[in-house]
Amino acid sequence: MNQVPERLMHWVRWGLAISWIVLIVSLFYDPISLILTDSDNLTSPFRIHPETCILLQGECLPQTPYSLGVRIFWSAIVPAAIFIVFVFGHDTWRRICPLSFFSQLPRALKLQRHRKVVYEGIVSYELISIAEDSWLGKNHLYVQFGLFFLGLTARLLVVNSNPVALGMMLISTILSAMLVGILYAGKSWCQYFCPFAPVQAVFTGPRGLLGSHAHQQPQFPVSQSMCRTNDNISACVGCKSACIDIDAEQAYWENLEQPARRFVQYGYVGILIAFFLYFYLFAGNWNYYFSGAWSRDDAIGMLFKPGFYLLGQSIPLPKLIAVPLTLGLFTVLAYFALSRVEKAYRAYLRQHKPASRQESHHTIFTLVTVFSFWFFFSFAGRPILNTMPSFIVLGFNSIVMIAGSIWGYRTLGRTQSQYQNIAEPARENRESDSNSPAQRLRQPAHHQPDSSDSTATSPDHIAKLEVTQTRPKS
Ligand code: SF4
Repeated sequence: MNQVPERLMHWVRWGLAISWIVLIVSLFYDPISLILTDSDNLTSPFRIHPETCILLQGECLPQTPYSLGVRIFWSAIVPAAIFIVFVFGHDTWRRICPLSFFSQLPRALKLQRHRKVVYEGIVSYELISIAEDSWLGKNHLYVQFGLFFLGLTARLLVVNSNPVALGMMLISTILSAMLVGILYAGKSWCQYFCPFAPVQAVFTGPRGLLGSHAHQQPQFPVSQSMCRTNDNISACVGCKSACIDIDAEQAYWENLEQPARRFVQYGYVGILIAFFLYFYLFAGNWNYYFSGAWSRDDAIGMLFKPGFYLLGQSIPLPKLIAVPLTLGLFTVLAYFALSRVEKAYRAYLRQHKPASRQESHHTIFTLVTVFSFWFFFSFAGRPILNTMPSFIVLGFNSIVMIAGSIWGYRTLGRTQSQYQNIAEPARENRESDSNSPAQRLRQPAHHQPDSSDSTATSPDHIAKLEVTQTRPKS
């Protein structure tokens, strides 16, 4: 995927971004859904069936026409993004992600913030990056996970069924991505703010099933989803090191033992289970979730309804509190439980051979990812998928099982030294390549491919680029 010309991907991204805008507009004004979901429209597969009773806390939900845009976004687009990351690799997703596209618009429009740098009497203007040793640089994974937590809470409370709320959430996310693109260099939005980035890290692991392998490509000038110009020349400004867009596996091994990375990996399992389980805890049955009724209920009117309904009894804790409580509790429990499992596994390994912390992390991370993939697709997309013929459902189930098994098998046997044995020679080739970004920055400005990205020429900046692009470290 990384070898598909950037010019073509540029138009693909435009197409997807425009589709996204159309979807957002439909959340505010949508005469078509009303027709397609009308119970009298016997030819529509989306029509509601007033004779069906879907129970919510012991009462039948009123069957009224609803917005298809909401259903499509949550039950098709979001699951598709996870599937693409896991199966086709994060690099495929990051080259088509509409949010990444919007965050890059300020660069294309030359609206990025610069600071003045004077070096040996020469004045130049440098793009501003988030420093690795800043608070955000050190804690961005916690921040991103926190935003993800807020997003899921908002989903369960309002956004799952209210088209206007979903539209406003998407617009504010797009504007945030653009603002970060104005304030900071490179893909700072993706690296430091995007709430979906931790999920990508979980489902990518060291490498996607069919993703490209940066360390095996000594000749190709740009790797994976690395920032590049339309002429396929690197436009990297070193906004992150190690960068998942340049080499996902390098980033994986380097970050594996960071406490924040561990929190994301283990906390994600908890929040994932809690998210889907909450539909049952709230409604008192699974039909509420699998029928998709949650995408058409009166979410705002239910904010102060009892948040749990168990064994035929409602528990008088408002939904407004029950949702964050459930998500938070499961996140913390999963984190501590899996940390203990990891410790116990390391102790077990040590009885048989000298085992490193990295080895136990990697094994438990891998099992967690495979479980998360299977668990996610046991629920995600089902409200739409379950309306299709059974051979399609069975086919999809088989793909999910096979993809998870192959990914798990390949990843469990993977080690950092296997990666380095191939990566080191390739890195030496890249360093000697006159096309490498650090080498190019040493060239006179008129030789640089995109002056909007290459205003930074201070030794500090060149050093940072070299660190970003020439790892791995041992
Ligand atoms: S480090 Fe370079 S390639 Fe990676 S996101 Fe930042 S600018 Fe893009």
